[in-house]
Amino acid sequence: MEEINKELVGEFTRAEVDLALNQMAPLKAPGPDGMPPLFYQYYWPSIRDEVSEAVLDCLNSEKMPSCLNHTFLTLILKVKSPEKVYDFRPIALFKSGYHALCEEARSDEASSSDSGLVARFWSKIWKPGVSGKVKHFLWRACTDSLPTRINLMKRKILSDLICHLCGRVDEDTLHALWGCEAVKQVWDRDFNWVNQFEVAQGSFQDLVEKVLSKPRLREDFATTAWFVWARRNKSRLNEKTTPLNGIRDAIRNFLQLFHSCREPPVSNKMQRQRNWIPPKPGQYKVNFDGALFNENDEAGVGIVVRDSRGLVVVAMAEKIIKPHSMECLQILATRHAVIFAKEIGLQLSHFVGDSKIVIKGLLGGGNAILIYRAFV
Ligand SMILES: [Zn+2]
Repeated sequence: MEEINKELVGEFTRAEVDLALNQMAPLKAPGPDGMPPLFYQYYWPSIRDEVSEAVLDCLNSEKMPSCLNHTFLTLILKVKSPEKVYDFRPIALFKSGYHALCEEARSDEASSSDSGLVARFWSKIWKPGVSGKVKHFLWRACTDSLPTRINLMKRKILSDLICHLCGRVDEDTLHALWGCEAVKQVWDRDFNWVNQFEVAQGSFQDLVEKVLSKPRLREDFATTAWFVWARRNKSRLNEKTTPLNGIRDAIRNFLQLFHSCREPPVSNKMQRQRNWIPPKPGQYKVNFDGALFNENDEAGVGIVVRDSRGLVVVAMAEKIIKPHSMECLQILATRHAVIFAKEIGLQLSHFVGDSKIVIKGLLGGGNAILIYRAFV
């Protein structure tokens, strides 16, 4: 569970960009940049750093520069001798960078999706309060970009189309995520209101549109679809999978965990900030604290001096050699604060530190008074 959670809430990685690029058909029609995916695939060792950084920046911030969204719009004939507007089909040729961003691996037909559809789905799919990866996954599913067996066959990677879970039907997105007998029971309890006959006539995208009309089910649906897909991939690789009857509970736990992680923690520091009492006019309050850095042998001391209006008069931060204990660090932080206040000529100052033991000791109420005073 923790592993799944880590994977879902984590940011997109370079390895995922590599995988997306490898999944792109090399000779798809180029967009305004004139470069097909083949260019990126061939020169990837040289351009990986810059391109990955740009792609990850967009994916992790969920913001896309408008220049990436530029496209060639062109009309292709739907009939031999077109006479009316609807005898043409508009197609959009996006830049390869945009395709990489979308982990584009769509069929020729799917690549003709118009930008209105894309925009509509981004706005709807981006609403659920689920992780960026789940949203992104759902978008890929809606644009038929998942490497289902049918899609892999279109790219001549596979010749066997039959779903490996049920062994009965060709595997497209709708089948893999929803229709397969092997996953049906996952959806049965909370999504049995969906008309199966209607769904079978449409695409996965139609199903999503139907479900998105019930906002309270959005995140449940998106996360369930992700679980089903992740489970399908694991089972294909003969890896251990969550039993079907445990998926609903796993999803509920995951969503609870996800939401609890998203709620900003009310830290002790924030609590202290709210309780901050300004000094009298003409006096100053010196707040100080120390921090240990686990990754190296360093520690830090920070000092902030505020006046009676609460405005920061001066602040400083300094790295020091890591002391052997937190208590020792607090003593050093106190020492730095006192010396700093003296150096900048503060006459009347109140010192506010974190360690009750140290402060108590300095004020004469603790057993360690002499040691602390000697240090400071
Ligand atoms: Zn199946």
